[in-house]
Amino acid sequence: MGKKPSAKEETGLEVCTVTGCKTKPAQFSFCLEHFDHYKFGLINKKGQQVPDFEKKFDQYMKNKDVAIRKVA
Ligand SMILES: [Zn+2]
Repeated sequence: MGKKPSAKEETGLEVCTVTGCKTKPAQFSFCLEHFDHYKFGLINKKGQQVPDFEKKFDQYMKNKDVAIRKVA
């Protein structure tokens, strides 16, 4: 098993690419939370919010709510 390169080695970033986020990158150049946002289409690759971010964020939170309830 080879050593998996860390996000920092892959991207050269110390922190998540989203402006204002100080969390270390976990997936690509995003922290776990913002990678989730990216997967859901809330932000683009550069960490910028998409034009209909608020609408999507609403759906995302509802989705998250459901996911949490399923686990609990
Ligand atoms: Zn982040």
